[in-house]
Amino acid sequence: MKFNPAEKIQDLQYFGEFGGVNPSISDSSTYTFLSAKTMFDTFEGNADGCYLYSRHSSPSNLYLGEALAAMEGTETANVAASGMGAITPVLLQLCNAGDEIVSSRTIYGGTYAFLKNFTPKLGIKTKFVDITKLAVVENAITANTKVLYCESVSNPLLEVADIKGLSVLAKKYNLKLVVDNTFSPLSISPAKLGADIVCHSLTKFINGSSDTVGGVVCGTQEFINDLRNVNDGASMLLGSTMDSLRAASVLKNLRTLHIRMKQHSYNANYLAEKFQNDGLKTVYPSLASHPSHELFKSMMNTEYGFGGMLTIDVGSLEKANELMELMQHNNLGYLAVSLGFYKTLFSAPGSSTSSEIPEEEQKEMGLSDGLIRFSIGLDNDIERTYQMMKTCMEQVGVL
Ligand code: PLP
Repeated sequence: MKFNPAEKIQDLQYFGEFGGVNPSISDSSTYTFLSAKTMFDTFEGNADGCYLYSRHSSPSNLYLGEALAAMEGTETANVAASGMGAITPVLLQLCNAGDEIVSSRTIYGGTYAFLKNFTPKLGIKTKFVDITKLAVVENAITANTKVLYCESVSNPLLEVADIKGLSVLAKKYNLKLVVDNTFSPLSISPAKLGADIVCHSLTKFINGSSDTVGGVVCGTQEFINDLRNVNDGASMLLGSTMDSLRAASVLKNLRTLHIRMKQHSYNANYLAEKFQNDGLKTVYPSLASHPSHELFKSMMNTEYGFGGMLTIDVGSLEKANELMELMQHNNLGYLAVSLGFYKTLFSAPGSSTSSEIPEEEQKEMGLSDGLIRFSIGLDNDIERTYQMMKTCMEQVGVL
């Protein structure tokens, strides 16, 4: 039977401790033990079902983790205080001084900065490559490589990673394939395509209401136990823990993710086709002009579409800024970073979310000044939105 991530979420059944249809929210940082022996066993990781301290785990965080693991089809998951709070411990857990990472060069600016500027301080080196070229990826692998890192759909260029192909390489060289699936929840299920570990910034589509940051690592029980280990677990020791109240609210929002993703995808597809027909340089994976259109199609869970992110290139940063300010003025969305909100969000990544990437490298990877990244909202009447956007584009002279 075909894997359907939203059904996996729906099939979970929770009962609150008083029979509530929502699990009760755990409101404790620490937990009592009836016997000192059980406390010792819990520290050793040998007392299933017991809680120790909420930086380690809490009932609310485990409920959310269970739902996200079901969605990604992994054994289990660990939630974190932010997307970066999920990604950074994963890489630090997998790599020691002297190890190397082969990473896609088009990734979220914060992750890029972590790999480029921070991990070298710990003796961990990263080679940044064009992830769409498997031969280039393979060439970059050395005896010291431990991790292949990519985003399923990259931020902001919307490059698509061949997860199956990368997983074959990972197996061949005994590496872990870590995939950030923030841009394509439900549409792509990386673990089902061979990824070892799947991360998300929950801040984006999954929570969907731009009211919190959050993150998750989905993987095997063994790896998640490693992250939580009291002696050497990077999540436990670095302490990027999600608060229980937030875990409960993200879990509630997760239940509507399938409906929201369908609408985000429908609207983004509608606008992408219109913009392209109008002659704008448009990037969206549903378009036949997208270099990885067929690859995305071959990997996707069809009913959730090609996602809510699209880019257009309006030629210069000045034009991009003028257009974004006018669209915001006309209530078409917000000039803001981040994604996955009910309103459309737009920003120029070269001077915002990817500004950590040096200008020279931005040029090399095709990130131009005039690029606008859109996270398309849940607008009910997308034709009306299109007409209004078109008027703005005509006004600033990009159409
Ligand atoms: N991964 C991707 C693809 C992102 O776009 C972001 C944030 O923009 C992150 C990770 C980091 O997530 P957070 O801001 O929740 O730490």
